Amino acid sequence: MDQIKIGRFIAEMRKEQQLTQRQLSEQLDISDKTISKWETGKGLPEVSLMLPLCEILHINVNELLSGERLSTQEYYRKAEENMMNLVREKEESKKKLILSAAVAGLCTAMLLICTMISIYVETMPYAVKIFMAVFGVVAFVTGVGIAVVLDREAGTFECGKCGHRFTPDMKSYVMGANMITKRYLRCPKCGESSYCRHKLTH
Ligand SMILES: [Zn+2]
Repeated sequence: MDQIKIGRFIAEMRKEQQLTQRQLSEQLDISDKTISKWETGKGLPEVSLMLPLCEILHINVNELLSGERLSTQEYYRKAEENMMNLVREKEESKKKLILSAAVAGLCTAMLLICTMISIYVETMPYAVKIFMAVFGVVAFVTGVGIAVVLDREAGTFECGKCGHRFTPDMKSYVMGANMITKRYLRCPKCGESSYCRHKLTH
């Protein structure tokens, strides 16, 4: 999906309804920064906000995701295109999650192997042992970092209280307690903290 095009379309439709970013954000009960993020192509509206947004802007979801007004003929073609994009997003999220787990596993193995070698191979010079240990730790830290980035970017987290879906910022993601498919996070919409389920789509 073309975020820049969608963003421009949202701005255009908002102005057509003679709304400021602030007025639109108040109607949707979100911050005006979020509207600005959408309009500059830096993010898409969450699924839970799409219908209310479309209602206010007098457009349909298909037009929102296409970033333009659609005639009846175009409507069906675009609907299929947009549906395929959503399926693709889900697949990409899944790939990221699998890759994230694989990277984390591989790096833990690297750390273990390096540590074992530097402890048990007695003939190895001291300097090499130190190098092995340092290398193991660096590989582990890098790997965990990559795994975290991939996991955070895959799909969204769903608030346990209000069902709002969002991508947490890096700090709260890392600080949040983790239960495999859930993470303790604060919801940007209702402000409540809860265990949020990791979802594959927006
Ligand atoms: Zn919430």
